[in-house]
Amino acid sequence: MADSQNTGTTRGLLERLNEGPVVCAEGYLFELERRGYLQAGSFVPEVVLDHPEVMEQVHRDFTHAGSDIQQAFTYNGTREKMRIMGKEDKLEPLNRNALRIARKVARETDTLLAGNICNSNVYDPENPDSVREAREMFEEQVQWAAEEGADMVIAETYSWTGEAKMALDIIKKHNLPAVVTMAMHRAPHTRDGDTLPDACKKLEDAGADVVGLNCMRGPWTMLETIKEVRQKCSGHVAAVPVPYRTNEEEPTFMALRDHVCPHHVPEGRPFPTALDPFLCNRYEVEDFTRQAHEAGVDYFGLCCGCQPHLLRSMAEALGRRPEASKYSPDMSKHAWFGQAARDINKSFADEL
Ligand SMILES: [Zn+2]
Repeated sequence: MADSQNTGTTRGLLERLNEGPVVCAEGYLFELERRGYLQAGSFVPEVVLDHPEVMEQVHRDFTHAGSDIQQAFTYNGTREKMRIMGKEDKLEPLNRNALRIARKVARETDTLLAGNICNSNVYDPENPDSVREAREMFEEQVQWAAEEGADMVIAETYSWTGEAKMALDIIKKHNLPAVVTMAMHRAPHTRDGDTLPDACKKLEDAGADVVGLNCMRGPWTMLETIKEVRQKCSGHVAAVPVPYRTNEEEPTFMALRDHVCPHHVPEGRPFPTALDPFLCNRYEVEDFTRQAHEAGVDYFGLCCGCQPHLLRSMAEALGRRPEASKYSPDMSKHAWFGQAARDINKSFADEL
């Protein structure tokens, strides 16, 4: 491993958090699927091998829009997933490529390189073999991340506190900053029975540098719980919702049903390929960000469904001005609705 891989950036995650809120783009699975470089269903990040140039551009687009962190796209890049696909031989190249693409952008843009591990989908606390299998998957992925020069590791989308705790312990063995976030499903507790604030508190007490919630819930069904997490925990707190209009009856993006256009949706479930009508607009993202920040959340991101214009609004709501803000909307310049609109167009615009 070359020394240059470990030179890192001038400021680490904790230094940045102590100066102000941090933004992390996520949602690479959905974004690459939407662009036609990844298959919905298997959801394995083969794009990092098949089209590294596209992957790099997505990192750059999210950075342009305000991301402080390059999350290596290794979500679901696990031994279990690759075995099911008959591609276990590609496991290590996939992980290392994802890390190297993210590292390249991180080092060029003074952003952080994050390794990423996630829900294993094999963990069962009643079955020691499955627990060992999950642990070995985390160990090899974190090892590769450390070897490729990760500045931090994000462990995310856990439904079990026990599984998240195991992931955290492995990250800490490498002395890397750990962001550990839980997925809140319809039930207000983890699969091992903790409330989400209690789960986050346990992870914080176990040494996580940032704890919080990611995925599953949209802004408006995450906000109250993340405030409770904030109350319960004393360190840094992360809010990484999906940008979809979840509601009390359908609190997760998997629970959403299309009541306007139900017949065009496979199996009647918009998740994951027909969520378009539920996408939050940029102003909703801005509103959520402001409220969560006022409540004391200081690590922000958007999970599945993240798009650059939404991330820019998140960054701007935190008082940031990423490069993309150069092109933020200014309707005062519009030919029909703007201040300099000619009278003939103003009266026309009134009729629209
Ligand atoms: Zn997600």
